[in-house]
Amino acid sequence: MTRVYVLGAGAAAAYKGSYLGETSPVANNFFQKAMRVINIHQIRDRYYEDENLSFNQIFQFIERLWGVPRSEVCNSSLDMEEVLTLLNIEMEEDQAGRERLLLAYEEYLLLMALTFDKILYGDLCPYHRKIAESLNPGDSIISFNYELLMDYALQRTNLEKNLWCIQDGYGIPCHYLRGSIDAVHLKQQSKLFEKEDYAKVKFFKLHGSLNWLYCPQCGQLYAYEHSDGGGHSVIINGIANMIQCTTQHCCNKLSRVIIPPTLMKNYQSIPFIPKLWHQARKALELAAEIIVIGYSFPTTDFRSNWMFRKAMVDNKELKKVTIVDKAEGYQLKTLLNKHKSIFRVQDVDFYPDIAAFTQTL
Ligand SMILES: [Zn+2]
Repeated sequence: MTRVYVLGAGAAAAYKGSYLGETSPVANNFFQKAMRVINIHQIRDRYYEDENLSFNQIFQFIERLWGVPRSEVCNSSLDMEEVLTLLNIEMEEDQAGRERLLLAYEEYLLLMALTFDKILYGDLCPYHRKIAESLNPGDSIISFNYELLMDYALQRTNLEKNLWCIQDGYGIPCHYLRGSIDAVHLKQQSKLFEKEDYAKVKFFKLHGSLNWLYCPQCGQLYAYEHSDGGGHSVIINGIANMIQCTTQHCCNKLSRVIIPPTLMKNYQSIPFIPKLWHQARKALELAAEIIVIGYSFPTTDFRSNWMFRKAMVDNKELKKVTIVDKAEGYQLKTLLNKHKSIFRVQDVDFYPDIAAFTQTL
């Protein structure tokens, strides 16, 4: 029975292992959390080397458009996705200021990457790990999140079950871009390469990922792999376009791949993104069981709503739909009705939190 997991922000919000004691940022509290950790440069054994980053251009952009000075950003209700979307629109419209805006864009993606990386630095998430361990060949995970909780869980579980690897586990060929790496890890990796070099479960990150870097010239995708003393992968903490593609004769500068849901049309500029969406849709068409964790099909995610509805038209296999969400009362009733409409089912299994659900696995 083929299973597809669908992960939204609610799946990350359940993570409790943060060494900083923070919960995962969501769109409407991202800036409050980002400002709380912006001056933290070391967490336990991990040094972020980011004390010299000013983030001046992104804070100037925010002050220009929202009238919120940097000192007030921590108290503002700025929305993470809205800032990213409006910055993208301004990049298209303001050709004269393009260079400054590109820098603001790079700074913002780096601020996002560092903020999530600092806050989610901690013990492996037991819920994500349970999910990773429950996977069978042919199963897929679709994620709308940028963070790496599932990536870490898959990597860790893979050392035992050998179901997933970075080479094609994201649905497209991906190279490691390695930082310093310890000998043990390297040995584990080379062992994996010998055993299998393709993934039996796929992990589709439809809005990009904090550890992805992409070459706009030759199309190669890289995942940054830098193992710290504790065996955690570390987000690259430099401006992405200072790093060059390692494909022979290419050497183009790399870009991050973080795409807000509101900018679906821009997905076409990164050729592999439509391929991921296509594969995700195919996985949904063949799914016998779909488990949706913390994803509420926001109206503005038009492409996602389309993908699910379209896949359900062609799905002849679906037997079971499970919803995991902490919504209550009227909100929950609306949410469940939406899920029933999208998946064309009369009943869904429901769990109020990921801990209760993963106990059943
Ligand atoms: Zn290249």
